[in-house]
Amino acid sequence: DKFNIAIDGPAGAGKSTIARLVANTLGFVYVDTGAMYRAVTWNVLRLGLSPDHTAEVIAATERMEIRLAPGENGQQVFVNGQDVTLDIRSAEVTNNVSQIAAIAEVRRNLTVKQKQLAANKGVVMDGRDIGSHVLPNAELKVFLTASVRVRAERRYKEIQDDRTDVTLEQLEAEIAARDRMDESRETAPLVQAPDAVLLDTTSMPIPQVVERILELCRT
Ligand code: C5P
Repeated sequence: DKFNIAIDGPAGAGKSTIARLVANTLGFVYVDTGAMYRAVTWNVLRLGLSPDHTAEVIAATERMEIRLAPGENGQQVFVNGQDVTLDIRSAEVTNNVSQIAAIAEVRRNLTVKQKQLAANKGVVMDGRDIGSHVLPNAELKVFLTASVRVRAERRYKEIQDDRTDVTLEQLEAEIAARDRMDESRETAPLVQAPDAVLLDTTSMPIPQVVERILELCRT
C-alpha cells in the first residue's frame, strides 16, 4: 500500500541522495522541495529583482510556473517551460535561497503545491519543514543530520567542478549560515518533528541509511 515519507534535515545531510534511493526502491515518486525554493530564487535573480524587495518577489513567484518531472536520475525542474535543473544549483542561487525561503507568502505558495503532489500518497518528499509543516500526517518521518564538517566535505566534493575558487572552510561557513537562517525564520523553520526518527549520517554510509529507512517502512 502507498504512504508518504517526509525526510528533513540541514544542508548536506544526504537528504536528496537518500530520498531518491528510497523512492526508487519503493517505486514511489521523489519530490525535492529545496529545488522549488531554488527555482523561485533563480527566477528572482534572472529578473534582476533584489531578494530584499519582498512584494516584488512574491508577485514574481505568483506569476511563475514551476514544473517538476520525476526521473530515474533525480528530478528535473522547469520554470515557465525552461529546464533549470542545473542552473538552480549555482552558488548564486545557493547563497540567496534561504532569504527567499524566509518569505511567508512564498512558503505558502509552494506548500500548497507540495501538498497537492503528495495527495495521492506514494511520495518521498525531502526538505526542511515537510514532517513539521507540509505533511504533518506523513506515515514515516525521518530527520537526517550530520556534523557541519562532514556536510561541508560532501558538498565540497560535489561542487569542485564549477567553483574552483571555494575552500572547504568557506563552504562550511556558508552551510552554517544557511542552517542558521533556516532554523531561525518565523514561518515553518527547520526543526525536527516530534514524531520524526533521527538518523545521524556523520559516519553512516548511504546504503546503510537507506536500508534503515526501508526497515522503518516495514514496521
Ligand atoms: O535542499 P536544498 O539545500 O536544495 O534547499 C535549499 C534551501 O531551500 C534551503 O536552505 C532552505 O532555505 C530552503 N528550503 C526550505 N524549505 C524546504 C526546502 C528547502 O526553506 N522544505
